[in-house]
Amino acid sequence: MFKCQMCGVCCRASHIAVLAHEKLILMRLAKTLGINVKFSYDYTIYDRYSDQQIVLTYYIVLENGSCPFLKGNVCSIHNLYKPLICRSFPYVPKKVEYLYNTDLKIIKHRSIYAISTACTFIRKFKSEIERQIVSENDIKSFLPDEYLAATKMEILRTKYLTALSYLWRANYVSLDFTYKGRTHVIDAYSFIRRYLPYFVIDYRVY
Ligand code: SF4
Ligand code: SF4
Repeated sequence: MFKCQMCGVCCRASHIAVLAHEKLILMRLAKTLGINVKFSYDYTIYDRYSDQQIVLTYYIVLENGSCPFLKGNVCSIHNLYKPLICRSFPYVPKKVEYLYNTDLKIIKHRSIYAISTACTFIRKFKSEIERQIVSENDIKSFLPDEYLAATKMEILRTKYLTALSYLWRANYVSLDFTYKGRTHVIDAYSFIRRYLPYFVIDYRVY
């Protein structure tokens, strides 16, 4: 079974992508802990009605090549809130495709996962892993916690897209997937909750 070496290499890899509500949690934690953290936009969808870019996912901006929450080789927020992507590492999305149908007003996604060879443990045992891990069930047995975190992340991505599809069909929004121009920006969590206040993500569950 996978055994994390606590080397912190994954906290120095690029692209630490977090969902919209995770960005809000991390901002709150950073403020409490006095850590300076910045985010860049990853996947955004433009709403013509409100003239806003809705940000579904963000990247944590690395500071001198490391995640700002990394202290030595230890994650300073490990017991407070560790992002799903960090919990799923080294089982991470190789590609996330967002698919939409403008007639039916539906947005879906397809995530393709892979075991990252950026991980120290995976690199060390690469040939054995390649020989032994061939099916999804093998991945579940080899990386049970990481697989679970990845599953939670995809459930939440679906939850966001289902809510946005609902708003689109109910004509609260008019989504445009091609316009990336300069405009106002809002995180998807706050945006959805303006219309659907019961849209809540309990981070203790996820
Ligand atoms: S949040 Fe923690 S685990 Fe995730 S990249 Fe930053 S330091 Fe590493
Ligand atoms: S690179 Fe792999 S072994 Fe090192 S801390 Fe990250 S998950 Fe653990």
